[in-house]
Amino acid sequence: PVPVLAIDGPSGSGKGTISRAVADALGWHLLDSGALYRAVGYAASMAGIDLSDSAAVTRCAETTKITFRDLKDGGETRVIVNGHDATDEIRTETCGAAASAIAAIPAVRTALFDKQRSFRKAPGLVADGRDMGTVVFTDATYKIFLTASADERARRRYKQLKEKGLAVTLSSLLREIEARDERDATRKVAPLRPAAGALIIDTTGIPVAEVIARVLTVVHT
Ligand code: C5P
Repeated sequence: PVPVLAIDGPSGSGKGTISRAVADALGWHLLDSGALYRAVGYAASMAGIDLSDSAAVTRCAETTKITFRDLKDGGETRVIVNGHDATDEIRTETCGAAASAIAAIPAVRTALFDKQRSFRKAPGLVADGRDMGTVVFTDATYKIFLTASADERARRRYKQLKEKGLAVTLSSLLREIEARDERDATRKVAPLRPAAGALIIDTTGIPVAEVIARVLTVVHT
């Protein structure tokens, strides 16, 4: 079967950066599952749907067209939602909170299940998310759980958003990240936790290159 490397963890654990780098190094496909949840949260918000209206949000998840477009110059992958390039919009903390809210609806997760599985193509897939190893790819060849202290994760997010010119404060980010973690970890459906047998890597204070090297070691053995 086509190998899958599942990389799960909370926001700011370095998942996005590490998954992209590892996929590039291996020449494998990449699934940014968080972008799918963010895209649905974004589409629902744009449609004026009340995020607590499970039926309406589920319909939205079933009908929203989400595609990833890789730029030829190797820049950031664009996320196209119903024909609109929403790459920047979906990265905001508002959209992260919307994603976290709609991700707690079981039928929404079901609606995105097959779409996520369809990313498994030769020569391999790096799947980045919260439940890659526990739900979507329970049969993954390799499972890794990345984590870092909340302070460090807030600082990383702060730097990322600042670079994009977005106005945020470190303290509000830390509060939002802690609230989102709490909701992701305590929800009934697919709560955030390491998969059985996952290698847990705490990235607090570890340089990105070192984390990438450690993850690659797992695949190469
Ligand atoms: O990883 P990212 O911050 O982009 O994910 C946004 C939100 O989407 C998370 O807070 C989480 O609630 C949800 N999510 C999820 N399952 C995934 C990926 C993301 O529930 N596999």
